Amino acid sequence: MIVFPTTIEEALAATGTLRAGGTELQERRRLPGMGGDLVDLRDTAGLDELRFSEGGELRIGAKRRIAEIGGHPEVKAKYPGFAEAVGGLATPQIREVGTMAGNLLQRTRCWYFRAPETGDRCFKRGGNECSARGGDHLYHACFDLGPCVSVHPSTIGMAMLAYDGVIEVASSGPMAVAELYGDGSNPRVDHGLPEGAVVTALVLPPPRTGEHSAYFRAISRARSEWPLVEALARVVVEDGTIAQASVALGGVAPVPLRAPAAEAALLGKAPEPSVLGEAARAATEGAAPLPMTRYKVELVVGTVLEALERAFAREPVELASSNDKLPRPAETSP
Ligand SMILES: Cc1cc2nc3c(=O)[nH]c(=O)nc-3n(C[C@H](O)[C@H](O)[C@H](O)COP(=O)(O)OP(=O)(O)OC[C@H]3O[C@@H](n4cnc5c(N)ncnc54)[C@H](O)[C@@H]3O)c2cc1C
Repeated sequence: MIVFPTTIEEALAATGTLRAGGTELQERRRLPGMGGDLVDLRDTAGLDELRFSEGGELRIGAKRRIAEIGGHPEVKAKYPGFAEAVGGLATPQIREVGTMAGNLLQRTRCWYFRAPETGDRCFKRGGNECSARGGDHLYHACFDLGPCVSVHPSTIGMAMLAYDGVIEVASSGPMAVAELYGDGSNPRVDHGLPEGAVVTALVLPPPRTGEHSAYFRAISRARSEWPLVEALARVVVEDGTIAQASVALGGVAPVPLRAPAAEAALLGKAPEPSVLGEAARAATEGAAPLPMTRYKVELVVGTVLEALERAFAREPVELASSNDKLPRPAETSP
């Protein structure tokens, strides 16, 4: 059965799996035991906001399409690294249909999880082993954080982590993206959102004046593919030294990761090539590759360096005056 709730309350009361764009879910539903009833959010009101709040936060409704956010002029101006990550993922077709919340909550693309024949042994499908660990894990983790060695597929999750983003969950309130994903040690889940919970919005803190940011991905073909490694770098320079730094990594672990050693290597230093190089190498701190993923550790260095260099090559974010006086993008209907 499929239902089309018109309110968030109706969606919460309905029984079944939530469907937004369906670009991930529909494929997953072909797996044994993953069918069942659907709660389609197509007609659900209250999931489409797009505005700056009074405090200067950017609020993006859960159902907003990826393409719209990646190409939104205000998002590009205030959060260039975020817009770049969002606007370049997957394919134009997927970005037109896929939603912001659906991207955060998509499940792993690990080929053992997705295989009808072997998937029932997988931790994430209720089994008790990780076939990838002893099998073909060429595209899997190089930060070995738990029994499962899949990599988290969400580019937007990685970008939100770099921006200390938060999600709004109906009836339970805000949840930090860092908390949503956790530390990767629980092999059974891809995220910690409770069953049946409805994400209503994604929230980014106010943009920082003078911030440089950029996103870069290393990918095995020119386009239409998940990245091998991806990174988002944000830096603010004050009086010639780096005063704030955030570096996030995707494609390397069962959850998106921050790279605290890279951030520490940047803080208080002048943004010189040697400093960026040291930070990029520091981003591998804690890496524990599998036999087939050693190449990713080297890719982390190059990917972070490229993101940092691109960030500094880009003009910093200019705010009109203060964060609470930002021009607000017009409310638009879905
Ligand atoms: C070739 C290809 C390349 C790709 N490359 C990338 C890439 O590089 N980076 C990347 O991030 N992704 C990539 N993707 C994946 C794509 O981005 C996702 O399929 C898409 O973002 C999912 O969004 P959706 O709205 O269709 O989600 P759905 O398929 O509808 O749902 C996904 C999950 O989210 C849950 N959900 C959806 N909305 C809500 C809500 N409001 N509250 C609670 N739960 C909800 C659903 O229950 C489901 O479990 C790629 C896909 C393809 C086919």
